Amino acid sequence: MSTEQASYATMNGSQSSGIACELEKIFRGLSFVDFLLSYPPVMGVPKRKTSKMRLRTRKAANRWHRPQLTKCSQCGSTVRGHSVCPSCGYYKGRQVLTVEGKA
Ligand SMILES: [Zn+2]
Repeated sequence: MSTEQASYATMNGSQSSGIACELEKIFRGLSFVDFLLSYPPVMGVPKRKTSKMRLRTRKAANRWHRPQLTKCSQCGSTVRGHSVCPSCGYYKGRQVLTVEGKA
């Protein structure tokens, strides 16, 4: 009890400001145990072990996939899906880009 009083005395003696001052106001009337119990647990803790299947499914979803390559309908060169052909500038059967050196 005397140690608690001493710690409070030092806390009052120092120039605390801001959030430390607010916390001091809130917890001044509490004992040390009450102070500890007034906080919820800091970390979230998983309730169950992650199964092998769940872990592997999650990791498989983040796996690298090779890009899907298709043929350009205009010039026949290999193009990534859903993107403009870099060699002729066509996308979905119409010209959207002017390729330098070709026109
Ligand atoms: Zn093309």
